[in-house]
Amino acid sequence: MSQQKQFRAIKGTRDILPPDSSLWNWFERQARETFESYSFRDIRTPIFEDTDLFARSVGTDTDIVSKEMYTFSASSEAASHDGEQMSLRPEGTASVCRAYIEHGMHTLPGNLKLYYSGPMFRRERPQKGRYRQFYQMGAEVLGPSDAPGIDAEVIEMLVVLFRRVGLEKITLYVNSIGCKECRPKYVELLRVELRNAKDQLGPDSQRRIETNPLRVLDSKLPEEQVIIERLPRISDHLCEACRAHFAKLKDELALRDIAYEENWRLVRGLDYYTRTTFEVTAAGLGSQNAVCGGGRYDGLVELLGGPPTKGIGFAIGADRAILSIQESGKLPHLPGLAVFVAWMGLKAYPTAVAMARKLRERGLIVELPAEEMKFKKSLGLADKLGAKYALIIGEDEVASGTYTLKRLSDANQQKLAEPELLEYLESERRGL
Ligand code: ATP
Ligand code: MG
Repeated sequence: MSQQKQFRAIKGTRDILPPDSSLWNWFERQARETFESYSFRDIRTPIFEDTDLFARSVGTDTDIVSKEMYTFSASSEAASHDGEQMSLRPEGTASVCRAYIEHGMHTLPGNLKLYYSGPMFRRERPQKGRYRQFYQMGAEVLGPSDAPGIDAEVIEMLVVLFRRVGLEKITLYVNSIGCKECRPKYVELLRVELRNAKDQLGPDSQRRIETNPLRVLDSKLPEEQVIIERLPRISDHLCEACRAHFAKLKDELALRDIAYEENWRLVRGLDYYTRTTFEVTAAGLGSQNAVCGGGRYDGLVELLGGPPTKGIGFAIGADRAILSIQESGKLPHLPGLAVFVAWMGLKAYPTAVAMARKLRERGLIVELPAEEMKFKKSLGLADKLGAKYALIIGEDEVASGTYTLKRLSDANQQKLAEPELLEYLESERRGL
């Protein structure tokens, strides 16, 4: 007899099941409501794009593009696209900028504020808080202005969201990594210093001296830390305009009462960042503790063939944010099964169907057994499902027009006519 293959979710991917999925939906709802209150609107872009879009924007020397993307060829049916490479998106900003250009959104009034939510894909080593399919909720501001007040408002929005979902043990790090005027000079200086210390660095950092010296600052290797601490710091090498921008950002954060720490080593992995960079870490996540990363990317739209455009944005790692909420133990109260309709006798069934619908129309979560059950079994199931109330509808109840509502936590029972019953349960709804 041949053994049937047991299918399992692919390594690095996972199923999000109830009740966790309720927490996910709640978190996403809080984020959407927060973003919309700051006048951001939803954008939905495809899950795969031209590989070159990511190569050009994220940068070919980043880990993401050099080894983490899921890339495949266009199907042979699409002859015009034959040979073209596509990739599952590893992040959201490139797609948003591509859409901004494609739809001529620079002609829209003011700065355009967009948010997105969805899965991203990176071939990384799976571990706690690190998956190959993970979820981000991000926001971007694109348009003519790079006023530091925009950066500060975006950061405020993040902090407000984290507070709203009960993530209190967070740290916000900010930095400025300069612009195309001052950064190249600093990078050259860094390269010279790093070359002098080359023997003391590991192979990754040695390679980055030539390809992307800024990324050496990201290193977590213990033996490299002493060397990095002695390196020149970008804050001492910003041009006048970048220095003023960063100073104003800090004023704007103070104005908003937002606590932050400056971290000169926060360069972020992606190539397209300029000036402001920021990251938020949260408690309870071990070494994968970054829940949000973001920054300014003033040259990106132009790099992708669009008009000169300023931009800033962030992406929250939803998997990690939710993990941190779970670890904190402070879960939100989410509505559960309110009423189990325990009906008995076929004559009671039409009334049970009608009552279930009326309760659901009033916003209650209701379970109605599709088949007749014995009274004891019915109440037993109501209990196992975690229902707050059992609504007992037998033939006698139908005849008299009064129903028994049993609270399952303490077996308290009351007999109510339909209008009182509906009114009572509706008034209880918020606590269910
Ligand atoms: P890390 O340093 O942890 O690898 P990153 O700098 O690669 O993060 P970004 O590209 O800035 O991450 O993405 C923003 C957020 O998305 C991160 O702060 C993190 O919360 C989340 N994230 C990134 N990669 C993963 C992943 N593989 N699994 C789960 N969440 C992720
Ligand atoms: Mg990463």
